[in-house]
Amino acid sequence: MLQITELAARQQYPAGTLYVVATPIGNAADITVRALHVLSLVDRIAAEDTRNTAQLLARYGISKPSIAVHEHNERSAAERVIEHLRSGERVACVSDAGTPGISDPGARLVDAVREAGLAVVPLPGPSAVVTALSAAGAWVNGFTFVGFLPAKAKQRASQLRTLAHHPMALVFYEAPHRIVETTRALADALGGERQLLIARELTKLHESLHRCTLAEGPTWLEGDANRQRGEFVLVVEGAPEAEDAEDAHDALLLTLLEELSVKSAARIAATLTGAPRNALYERALQLKKPAQE
Ligand code: SAM
Repeated sequence: MLQITELAARQQYPAGTLYVVATPIGNAADITVRALHVLSLVDRIAAEDTRNTAQLLARYGISKPSIAVHEHNERSAAERVIEHLRSGERVACVSDAGTPGISDPGARLVDAVREAGLAVVPLPGPSAVVTALSAAGAWVNGFTFVGFLPAKAKQRASQLRTLAHHPMALVFYEAPHRIVETTRALADALGGERQLLIARELTKLHESLHRCTLAEGPTWLEGDANRQRGEFVLVVEGAPEAEDAEDAHDALLLTLLEELSVKSAARIAATLTGAPRNALYERALQLKKPAQE
């Protein structure tokens, strides 16, 4: 063990640097040796919730001054972090669980620190998306991380339309009170045939990994109240390869037409797909018609 901690200590950790540190997503033993070393070394910790982080660090015998950096103050808190870095401090950024910036605060802080000409060093570690994917299996070859879908049904359906023909697996985060509704919305938008992995409470006592089809997902979840408890990652198989390109173009045009004129929708769709602009314009006109009548 001494040799391992020595390995972590051997690297140089320059002052005036922001260290982005991943922390466990459930099992406290999943912290890395390097994360512990850097968290012990830094002068200050920028944390999503300073009390949560203090509790976590207390488990490893670490106590540090902290700055709250959360969704609602990330820009202004970044200025304070930059002042500390400019005065020669080392600052670590952590979120409540997992990797900062992944459906968590951290990304704006990283932007601001880099724009200020200061260094950012990432320390890899737990993240629910990669943990779920590591146990998904060979049907997942390539993926797109979506994170949380919008809570409102209309916006959710609109986002899912843009993803319906995506060839790679899709990864979603979801909270327990919306898990059944979201799984049902996925089946409606993407079709019930696709494979689904429901990864619940990863690394925790009640961890479970259930694989089924999208159509079976909501029924399985409703089969036992315990299956709807805790934190969830959903991995959904990508669209079948034989999917008709015209369907994909229609889905894209329909989404663009919600916000744009026929001309703009056709222009953007042509840029994104490489299909001829004139053909897309004609199709967009046809798709627009029912709404105008
Ligand atoms: N930054 C985190 C990461 O790197 O995974 C994600 C934070 S996000 C606010 C919280 C969401 O991540 C949860 O609602 C859930 O969808 C997912 N999540 C986090 N921990 C999890 C776990 N132990 N098991 C399953 N999903 C988890």
